[in-house]
Amino acid sequence: MAITRDQTLDWMRRFAGEMAEHRQELVALDTAIGDGDHGTNMNRGMTKALEKLDGAEQAASGAVLKTVAMALVSSVGGAAGPLYGTLFLQMGTALTGVQEVGLSAYATAWRKALQGVQARGKAEPGDKTMVDALIPAVEALESASDLNGGLRAAAQAAEEGMKATTPLIARKGRASYLGERSKDHQDPGATSTYYLFKSAAEALAD
Ligand code: ADP
Ligand code: MG
Repeated sequence: MAITRDQTLDWMRRFAGEMAEHRQELVALDTAIGDGDHGTNMNRGMTKALEKLDGAEQAASGAVLKTVAMALVSSVGGAAGPLYGTLFLQMGTALTGVQEVGLSAYATAWRKALQGVQARGKAEPGDKTMVDALIPAVEALESASDLNGGLRAAAQAAEEGMKATTPLIARKGRASYLGERSKDHQDPGATSTYYLFKSAAEALAD
């Protein structure tokens, strides 16, 4: 099985839908340990991304993801815009020219995306960031034996990684200014990353 351009578009539409639906939840999480804009940021960025995709020529998965990256970088300030921009740009670049996006090419692209996010933000596992959802999800994909099951495992791993951020003390981003007081709150960026994998698993399941 391989991932088609239409499935990639469906993934991005679903992710935009999740960001609209969970905007308030992400705002509330970011209000507790940041400046309260994560839900608004992600919703604005993904709304822009869909506008760009709707106005663009039909393109392959790699180009779709690069378009999303550009839209996020140009419309979302703060930490998450450039970090998600890097994620989609690295993934899109890795998939460009790949004829059949099977499990191995897809897992490689996700690994590149993770490396890009870490190169940009310098977050390590346990720093209470989106990286804590990304790492277990990418590892789940890498050890999977088929795409569909792999993405379901990745979504579950991302959810566990997201939940595991709650007891952590933030060491990166705005939440790190709170020190000990960042404890007992789930990280907003790890939460949006969980929705990213959830929507990918759903786009591939139907
Ligand atoms: P800002 O913090 O600039 O207001 P957002 O609120 O949109 O940006 O995003 C906050 C999220 O960004 C955090 O919850 C965290 O997951 C993620 N984040 C912040 N800094 C980093 C970093 N250096 N590396 C990885 N993720 C980060
Ligand atoms: Mg914020």
